[in-house]
This record gives sequence, structure tokens and C-alpha cells, in this order.
Amino acid sequence: MKAKIAVLAGDGVGREIIPEAVKILKAIGDKYHHTFEFTSADIGGHAIDKVGVPLPNDTLALAKQSDAVLLGAVGGPKWEGLDYSMRPERALLGIREALGLYANLRPAKVYANLVDASTLKREVIEGIDILVIRELTGGIYFGRPKGIEPLPGGGERGVNTEVYTTEEVRRIAKVAFEAAQKRRKKVMSVDKANVLESSELWRKVVIEVHQDYPDVELSHIYVDNAAMQLVRNPRQFDVMLCNNMFGDILSDEAAMLTGSIGMLPSASVGAKVGLFEPIHGSAPDIAGKNIANPIATIASAGMMLSYALQLDKEAEAIERAIVKTLDMGYRTKDIQSPGTQVVGTVEMGDAILRNLD
Ligand code: NAD
Repeated sequence: MKAKIAVLAGDGVGREIIPEAVKILKAIGDKYHHTFEFTSADIGGHAIDKVGVPLPNDTLALAKQSDAVLLGAVGGPKWEGLDYSMRPERALLGIREALGLYANLRPAKVYANLVDASTLKREVIEGIDILVIRELTGGIYFGRPKGIEPLPGGGERGVNTEVYTTEEVRRIAKVAFEAAQKRRKKVMSVDKANVLESSELWRKVVIEVHQDYPDVELSHIYVDNAAMQLVRNPRQFDVMLCNNMFGDILSDEAAMLTGSIGMLPSASVGAKVGLFEPIHGSAPDIAGKNIANPIATIASAGMMLSYALQLDKEAEAIERAIVKTLDMGYRTKDIQSPGTQVVGTVEMGDAILRNLD
């Protein structure tokens, strides 16, 4: 197949980890006879330095014309003094909005060799492999009315509105069922249907959409119980389907079960072009030293193959190469443990490349 991939390295460690992921994608292209066309563009602080804005029009146009976008990270101390509207991080909101990315997918997986990096006990987290799917453009963060208003008798009133339409729930539920079909075929829908009408509708629509996916098992859980079960028995979860706020909170909780931010990829998908990026930021404290862990970004490239290009076999090859490399004892500094071999960003990328079968 032919695919156009927009490559936005951004700032800080983004500029070190993205070349490693591109290196792996090129090798996959060669091995499996695909033509991946990579085009780089500026975003974040680097774009501010060059053209004065964090998300140049050219970058956005490139993203829109591509089949997928691979993003590093943006931000850094150099741009912290700028007005909020001109900060590098604005580019993230801008590109997500412009691409209409309404679903955020965050896997939380514990690799056998990294079990001890978690703060939880080995027997609780061993073997967990969860995909949290968060609705990204609706719910309480966007609902109206919102605001703070004065009260006649003194004091103020703060208001936000949790609101979902049938269509918004339907499209995110489809993402969850389709993702589950690529995995262990279980969707747990998270809601608070015992008290919230918006959750009542959420549950009703999820049940309706489920009719089209009889091969997937659907269950429902209240969000408070979900938060508890994630630390009590996380292995019970496959795909967790969440609204914007519940997903915001639970995806961080799930991510931290694994213990290492340098290992966690993410995907944001919408109507057309998807965006794939590590969950971590530009890590200015370690940038430019060849010590950043490139695995989150390489795994994000794997998600891109699977979710944007439907190349599941190729995505699995990347996953196997990561596991093999960890099994061989290669570690970047953030995941080192006694008896392992600490390597740099480039060397980790090279090792994963060698292990692509
Ligand atoms: P961060 O994720 O950049 O770093 C947090 C900690 O994790 C740091 O100690 C860092 O060294 C470490 N870390 C991060 N990625 C790593 C990797 N690949 N390998 C090894 N260690 C890694 O978060 P922060 O320090 O709060 O933010 C730094 C900058 O990044 C800020 O400007 C922030 O706004 C921006 N940021 C950007 C994104 C994004 O681009 N999506 C996300 C979060 C933060």
C-alpha cells in the first residue's frame, strides 16, 4: 500500500524519538512492500521560532492531506513566558480540533520484564493489557451553559454542563467495538447511569450500537467502581469505553499501573486523519542527551499502522520487536534495573530495528 505520513517532531526529546520511529516504519515499509511517504513539518516551539506561530497553516494543510500524523512532543522552558494563546501547547489543541479527533486511545500494557517498574504488586499487574478509549470533543469540558456567575446574596456559582448527543455516543462506541475486535473482544462501558441522565443515554446508545458487534462482549460499570477495580484487579479489563471526563481520569490511572511514561503510546482518531503520539511531553530535562526512551513513540507508530492503515500484521511485528528487545535486556535509563544493559535513544531504536522479524 501507499501512505502519506506527516511527521511532526516538535520540540525537546520529540526531535530524538521521532527519527527512531521513522527508522522502524521505513524498515517495515521495505519488509512488507509498502510505500510510506514521510513529510516533515514544524510544530510547537520550533514553529514559533521559525514563523511566529505554534501551528503554521502549512503544517495543518500537510496533516489534513496525509493518511496519518506522527507527532513527537511540544513545549519547553524557552517558550514558557509567551502568552497562553501563542504557547507551543496550543498547537496540540489546534491540530486535534482541526482534524476532528473525537476519540483518544491509550493502551496500558505491562511488559513482563518491566513489572517491577510499577508501584503496584507484581501479582496485581502482571499481564495487564488495557485499552482506554476516551471521548475527546464532548461532555462536561465543552457543554454549555458554563461559567462563574455572581449570586445576588453574595458569593458565586460555578457551572459546567455534562452533555452528550446520540451521535456523539454512537461514533465513540463504534471506535470501541472495532478496537475490541482487534483485541480480546471485550468492551466495558464506564458511566454513572445510576445518577446522571447523560450517562443513561450513553448506556442506552452503547447497547444499541452493540447490536452490530455480536462477536464483542459488552458490560457496564459505574465510574467509581471502575477506579477501584483498576487497582484491585486490572487484568479483568480489555477495552474501557469512557466519556471525556471519566476517560481523562481513568486513562491516567491505567497508564500509571505500568510505571513508565516513556513506554506509553496513544492514538487520536476521528472522521479521517488520525494522530499518533507518545503520551509524554518534550522532557526538556533530558533533551539532547540521547537518553530518552523511544519506545512510546515506536509503539505509537505501531498503533498508526493498525488504526490508520489497517496493517495489523505489521503492527504486531513492531510489538514483537519491542518485547524481544526488552527480553534481551536492553533498557533506556528510565526503565533500567539491575542486570540490564542501559543504552541510548538511538541504540534502543537500532536494537528494535534488528529485532524486526
Ligand atoms: P514530560 O512528559 O515532558 O516529562 C515528565 C518526566 O518524564 C520528566 O522527568 C521526563 O524526563 C520524563 N520523560 C518524559 N518522556 C520521557 C522519555 N521518552 N524517556 C524517558 N523519560 C521521559 O512532562 P513535563 O515535564 O510536565 O512537561 C515538559 C514540557 O512538555 C512542557 O512544556 C509541557 O507543556 C510539554 N508537554 C507536551 C505534551 C505533548 O506534546 N503532548 C504533553 C505533556 C507535556
